[in-house]
Amino acid sequence: MIKYYPKLVLSFSEIPGAPTLLIHALTGCQFHCFKCFNYSQIVKNPGDDAYLITDVVDYIKKQNDLFGYIVFSGGEFLNAALNDLIADLTLVKSISDKPIIVYSNGGNPEKMQVLDERQLVDGFHVDMKLPYHLLYDDDADLIELTIGIKVKNPKVFFAPYLRALELTVALDHGFSRIRSVEYPFLNASAFEENRIFIDKLNQKHKKKTPYDVNQFIYPEVE
Ligand code: SF4
Repeated sequence: MIKYYPKLVLSFSEIPGAPTLLIHALTGCQFHCFKCFNYSQIVKNPGDDAYLITDVVDYIKKQNDLFGYIVFSGGEFLNAALNDLIADLTLVKSISDKPIIVYSNGGNPEKMQVLDERQLVDGFHVDMKLPYHLLYDDDADLIELTIGIKVKNPKVFFAPYLRALELTVALDHGFSRIRSVEYPFLNASAFEENRIFIDKLNQKHKKKTPYDVNQFIYPEVE
C-alpha cells in the first residue's frame, strides 16, 4: 500500500502552461541529492499522517476541473511495489481523464515499461543528474556530491538509469521530458553532454522529447 504526503499541491510551475495537481508519495529515495528540496519532510521524516489512494481519489473527484495534469512525485514514486503502482494508477485513471505524469530519478526502468504498456502513465519526467554515460571510477567524489551515495562502479550502477532515459524517449507519447538541475558545482559542459546524449536518443527513436536544465534553488529547510 502506497502512502502519500497529506498535502496535495496545486502547482503552476511543474508543467509549462497548465495547472498541475502534485502528489508526493512517501516511497523513500535511493539518493540523497545535493540540497534535495523534499528530503527532510518527504523522504526522511514523513511524519505519522499520510493519505492513502482513496484520499487522493476523493480530492481529484472534487477538484478535477482545477488542473490539467496529475503528477506523481516523491521521493522516488517508482520505488513502490509494482502491484501497488498498478492498483493506484488504475484507480486514478478510472476517475480522471487528466494526463498522468510520473517524476522519476530513473532507477526503475522495468516499472516504467510495464506502466506504459498498461497505459497507466502518459508521460515520464526523468532526471539526468550527471552525464551518466561519461562517468568513470575517478568521478566517485562528484557522484557522491551530486546524489549523496558512494558508487563503486559507475558503468554498472548507472546502466539502469541510462536505460530509463532511453525508455523516456522511446515511449514518449508527447508528455515526457528529461531534465537536469543546474547544481552550482557542475560545469556547463555536463549539460551540453547531456543534451547531445538526449539528441542522439531522439534521433534514434524519431522522437522530440525535450531536455531542460532547471535552475538550482537552495531550499529553506534541508
Ligand atoms: S532523486 Fe529527487 S527526491 Fe531523491 S534525493 Fe534526489 S532530488 Fe531528492
